[in-house]
Amino acid sequence: MFDLDTNFFDTKIEYLKGAGAQKANLLNLELQLFTFADLLTHYPFRHEDRTKFYDIGEITEDYPYVQLKGKIIDIQLVGSGEKKTRLTAKLQDDTGIVELVWFQGIQWAQAKLKKGAEFIVFGKPQLFGRIFNISHPEIELFLENKTPETALSPVYPTTIKLQKRFLDSKGIGILVKNLLEISFEKIPETLSQEIIEKYKFIPKNEAIRQMHFPKSPKALHHATRRLKFEEFFFVQLKLLWQKTVRKHTYQGEILKSTALLTEFYNKYLPFELTNAQKRVIKEIYKDLCSGKQMNRLLQGDVGSGKTMVAFICMLIAIDNQTQVCLMAPTEILADQHFRGLKEYADKLNIPIAKLTGSSKTSERKIIHEMLRNGDLKIIIGTHALIEENVVFNHLGLCVIDEQHRFGVEQRAALWKKNEGKALPPPHILVMTATPIPRTLAMTLYGDLDISIIDELPAGRKPIQTMHFYDANRLKVFGFIRKQIEIGRQVYIVYPLIEESEVLDYKNLMDGFESITRAFPEYPVSIVHGQMKAQDKDFEMQRFVKNETKIMVATTVIEVGVNVPNASVMVIEDAQRFGLSQLHQLRGRVGRGADQSFCLLMTNYKLSKEGKIRVETMVRTNNGFEIADIDLKLRGPGNLDGKQQSGLLDLRLGDISKDQIILQEARKTAEELLDKDANLSLPENIFVKRHLLSVQQGGKVWSRIS
Ligand code: ADP
Ligand code: MG
Repeated sequence: MFDLDTNFFDTKIEYLKGAGAQKANLLNLELQLFTFADLLTHYPFRHEDRTKFYDIGEITEDYPYVQLKGKIIDIQLVGSGEKKTRLTAKLQDDTGIVELVWFQGIQWAQAKLKKGAEFIVFGKPQLFGRIFNISHPEIELFLENKTPETALSPVYPTTIKLQKRFLDSKGIGILVKNLLEISFEKIPETLSQEIIEKYKFIPKNEAIRQMHFPKSPKALHHATRRLKFEEFFFVQLKLLWQKTVRKHTYQGEILKSTALLTEFYNKYLPFELTNAQKRVIKEIYKDLCSGKQMNRLLQGDVGSGKTMVAFICMLIAIDNQTQVCLMAPTEILADQHFRGLKEYADKLNIPIAKLTGSSKTSERKIIHEMLRNGDLKIIIGTHALIEENVVFNHLGLCVIDEQHRFGVEQRAALWKKNEGKALPPPHILVMTATPIPRTLAMTLYGDLDISIIDELPAGRKPIQTMHFYDANRLKVFGFIRKQIEIGRQVYIVYPLIEESEVLDYKNLMDGFESITRAFPEYPVSIVHGQMKAQDKDFEMQRFVKNETKIMVATTVIEVGVNVPNASVMVIEDAQRFGLSQLHQLRGRVGRGADQSFCLLMTNYKLSKEGKIRVETMVRTNNGFEIADIDLKLRGPGNLDGKQQSGLLDLRLGDISKDQIILQEARKTAEELLDKDANLSLPENIFVKRHLLSVQQGGKVWSRIS
């Protein structure tokens, strides 16, 4: 039925007509293209309409890439000495002159150019003095009788080195064309007939052909749509499949007893749980009783009370004779969790300890021993928890706070803590305060189940957010003073961005000085990334204990810190922060009963995007709404770099721009597995074959997706 020449797509590029060993070698080195499959999926990053010629006279500064036709009237080698040498040529048409410039590949260009001849030139014009110039343009002798190009020609990623060897965009296009001629019939279909019909997709091979050489914009659209869908579809299918397999494979400890929880609930719980907290606890409890290992993501806006949910789940695990751990990304946070939970644990007589990088060796020894023999029930810590010498007697539940700071590997390391014993892996609860839209969460964490706390505890006053220009600083200082006078504490946060660390650091120090000068009557703390952990902790604790009234800090306080009495958050250079980061920072206040404030300071030079960010912050406190806007503004890249790049290796698709295709793909994958969990139905054979090859890091088909 289908002719699958599996080895064909693994053929080295050098055996392709028009390629040869030298070019193939260059493509390997410069673009990591090795095989036919690689070349076939080296998609153009855009297409140009090469039927249209622009008049030189009409070019203005904001023109994109243009195609020009004219006569070469002047060729010159300029400058002396190796570095300065450049080649210039002037191209003239009836309306004007542009200068063409080469700094590299001079010999190649020199050989190609002919004075007095008509040339077609393609590139991006830039105004240089009074004349437009195009550096490193594509050039081609104009031939009158040549058949006109198709409307859209591909523009391929290439490099200067490749251009010199006739592997400019055009050269690569020729190779792809040759390859398509011999491979078109061999390209295997990867979707089922049902899916193809449902979404009216064009066949796979046609999609690939149209992706390179579309016969019309519409054809390009169809090709892109199909290939993007397919990309998302297989990523989702893979994640969902993993989840299914895991559910079938891994047993989980059954943690049913809730006596301890009931005791806590009736005697010590200091507030009524929100409905959202109750709901997610039920969801988690169901997992804990299911006999399967739980892998759940707990999402909830800052201040939504994730810690209490985690603690309650920990109590269930402990009640069932297992140990629990809670891993936080920083010492400060680990310490805060420890202090917070110790209070409750002590009341219930549950042994609890803290393990971080700065735990003393003697302390460590005792903790290790107590974990090993099972006496210690709750351990709270940082990365120190995943070290190999941390061995549990019987680990039942791992809680990981602020997930986005941890990589997938660290999650996996905790997984393995019960290995080698006749015990199932521990249940995993991952908590994140980065509210991301549900669809995106499902995409990024497709292998996890998701619970969402979408409600803040009652009685919280929404934080009031205001925007001030730097010029109004005195007003802001006045406001701060008033708040301190009525007993509140204040954060003042400065951006610290790696690229400009030195300057940022200076800003921070200048800011600190001006604050101490402006508020001589109040003690001020400072915390930043260059301080030693102990010093940071010391300063942080002074603030926590209300010994200092103002905390000047970089974003180290971004995550999780909880000082209910701090009710003012001033964010300096607010335009330099991303939206979700602003939201996270703001979440540090509004934790107590008092009215809280967030003051965004910016200079007058706000970009359009900066303006939207500030306006959004002033307008809403809703983390999900903010996440949505953030996603639209700058894509999901910043949400979770590691997860994102690790899980979703996307060539064509863009999570933020292609939401609709993404959702269709996700839904399709879900439905497919619902109907055919093992992908054993004959109509799903293409899908299964492709999925398996993707999973095995398979060669051929995986790269043709
Ligand atoms: P986050 O979800 O950001 O980690 P926390 O767990 O730190 O939030 O909770 C923020 C604050 O709200 C804490 O002081 C916590 O004790 C309190 N809190 C949690 N749940 C409730 C509730 N149901 N009612 C009132 N306060 C609550
Ligand atoms: Mg928290």
